[in-house]
Formats: sequence, C-alpha cells, structure tokens
Amino acid sequence: MAILNIIKDGDETLRKTSRPVAQITPRIITLLDDMTDTMRMANGCGLAAVQVGVLRRVVVIEVEEGEVIELINPEIIEQSGHQEESEGCLSLPGRWGITSRPAKVKVRAVNRNGEFFEIEGEGLLARALCHEIDHLDGKLFVDVMIKEDEE
Ligand code: ZN
Repeated sequence: MAILNIIKDGDETLRKTSRPVAQITPRIITLLDDMTDTMRMANGCGLAAVQVGVLRRVVVIEVEEGEVIELINPEIIEQSGHQEESEGCLSLPGRWGITSRPAKVKVRAVNRNGEFFEIEGEGLLARALCHEIDHLDGKLFVDVMIKEDEE
C-alpha cells in the first residue's frame, strides 16, 4: 500500500486518453489498492488512474464510506435524466463548479477478478461515475461546467 502523488491541472497527462486494461496483473491489483489509499488520504470520493500518472482505464469511487467501487475498463451503457450539482476534483484543488450530468447512469466494468459487472448510480454516484470515466478520456469537470461554484 502506498500513497501516490496526485497530478494537478496544468499537467498535460490529465488530457490524455487512457488505454484499456488487457489483463489483470498484480500491478493492476496494487494500483487499485494504492489508488484507494490515495483517494482516502486526499478525502476524495473518486480517483482515476490518470490522476496518479498511470494511463490505464482504472477508477476507484467511494461515495459511501467503507464501500469502495473498483472499476476496470468502465463504460456508460445507459443514462437518463439530468442534474446540475456542485462538483470538484482532486486534480483541481480549491475549484468547484456546477456541472451538467445525467441523473442516472448504468456502467459496465470489470472487477479485480476479471469478471464483468454492472452498476447503477443516481445522484452523487452518477456524478462520480461520469466524472471518473471522463478522466479516462482526458476530460475534466470544468469541460461540462455550467458555472463556477464559489461557495
Ligand atoms: Zn477528478
């Protein structure tokens, strides 16, 4: 277990597209564990591998304390509705904005055992899923921001 360095806005790595994981290797398992530690240490509710400088389609999310969701090669397969809520990012410290996101999403991904699974989320979880999956394509929340949130 290790705490990784989170790269910040201005680093062009954040704008790169991450590659799919072809095989779950011990390195991917270690990456998942380290990402969870790093996310928790930073008090975040989600982290994408690109944010620790690894261009792989790997995400961890924890919107409910103690329930870490690990997603490898996640894809949004369904989405509905619309929400506009405040969002931030560990790579853009101190910045918050109201974003436009679907109210509900269904995501298909692979778990650490190499098995496909689906997860549905609404509200904060839907935002977190969209936010982290966007990171894998080099997108940041400011790209879908309607306005800065000063509060
Ligand atoms: Zn982020």
